[in-house]
Amino acid sequence: MQQSLMIIFAAIWLAMAAGSYMLFQRGTDVARKRKLWPRYTIASNVVIAAVIVYAQPPLPMMIGLLVFMVPLTWLTIRSTKFCDGCGSPSRAPFFMKPPEKCSHCQQKL
Ligand SMILES: [Zn+2]
Repeated sequence: MQQSLMIIFAAIWLAMAAGSYMLFQRGTDVARKRKLWPRYTIASNVVIAAVIVYAQPPLPMMIGLLVFMVPLTWLTIRSTKFCDGCGSPSRAPFFMKPPEKCSHCQQKL
């Protein structure tokens, strides 16, 4: 029972990673990427949060991790920009300012 749940989590995670790659790395529809990126980031963090809850760490640690994930999710959304020129995603580490030019074609974002 427990193992099969972990397999389901792993399958969801892999499907989301594959979907993310197809949509955000390979896709060319910048408007759609911008629209879907926050939803995707929130959804993938909800999956991680579900795994944390399911793993049942000590309560203070669980609350700490879940609280920590909220600003982390927001910063991840903010630090990723999609280029108008080539549609590529440009990411900065979540603790830094959002990128100002495309890492792919150097166009200003
Ligand atoms: Zn570009």
